[in-house]
Amino acid sequence: MYTVRSYVRPESLEQAITELKSGKHNRMIGGGVFLKMQHRAISKLISLDGLGLDQITQTDESVIIGGAVSLRDIETNPIILDHFPALSYAVSQIVGVQLRNLAQVGASVFSRYGFSDIIPCLLAADASVKLAEAGEMKISEFLDRERDWDILYEISLPKEVTLAYDNLRQTNGDFSSLNLAIGKTEDDWRIVYGARPMGAFLAEAASQAAKDGQSLEEVTRLVQEEVPFGTNLRASADYRRHLAGVLLERLWEVQ
Ligand SMILES: Cc1cc2nc3c(=O)[nH]c(=O)nc-3n(C[C@H](O)[C@H](O)[C@H](O)COP(=O)(O)OP(=O)(O)OC[C@H]3O[C@@H](n4cnc5c(N)ncnc54)[C@H](O)[C@@H]3O)c2cc1C
Repeated sequence: MYTVRSYVRPESLEQAITELKSGKHNRMIGGGVFLKMQHRAISKLISLDGLGLDQITQTDESVIIGGAVSLRDIETNPIILDHFPALSYAVSQIVGVQLRNLAQVGASVFSRYGFSDIIPCLLAADASVKLAEAGEMKISEFLDRERDWDILYEISLPKEVTLAYDNLRQTNGDFSSLNLAIGKTEDDWRIVYGARPMGAFLAEAASQAAKDGQSLEEVTRLVQEEVPFGTNLRASADYRRHLAGVLLERLWEVQ
């Protein structure tokens, strides 16, 4: 459990980042689900509540998700169900409704969990994120950056992408043993594996081969060659390499 000396609800994003940066023991809070599992003394806990960041909206080109949107809202929102049903499905796989009602997408993506079901979808969709201090960038750039305290307050997904997602779990509610997201546009493919157990990885050679019309067998061979898989208590690297082909075949059929 954590202890907190003070709790603030800033009236603007500028105030929120100033509060966050004003002390090294200050922290943002989303749903508080992950924070709750940590033992730490927090000086100032900063919430995004009240800043209108709990909305999902759309423009002609993009679907925009506020950083304080709950995972349950992503799962059930009509705009997401219309444009990115695979993202709704990916989120629905995370633990249970009670947790998804609390956990927020800004916290979830900013934390860059290796087991994430959301980040592979965003990377496959070539999504962008907005950070209060560092500004707007592609999710790929965000994932490559050194970790630094900031506030992730918006995610935007291009509507031109058709997204597919699947995962393998030992039991409901467990982390994925492996997950796969594929983003397709008229002239591009992005094949992304997550929970390897390391973080999301874009298989560039395999994506290029799929784009060039190569066979499932050839794309699978490239995936198994280029994607690094590791071993943990959920699966060995060899088993994950095998599962990578199984997941690809499943999604290939629904393309
Ligand atoms: C038991 C359990 C199982 C889980 N299983 C899965 C799973 O299978 N797949 C999956 O994808 N996820 C899983 N998760 C993670 C979950 O989906 C959330 O990502 C996680 O709970 C964090 O969300 P939160 O809102 O509770 O964050 P919090 O606990 O509030 O915060 C987590 C961290 O993010 C920081 N933070 C909060 N908001 C922001 C922000 N807007 N910008 C920057 N930093 C911020 C906090 O300071 C803290 O360091 C699991 C979590 C738990 C507890």
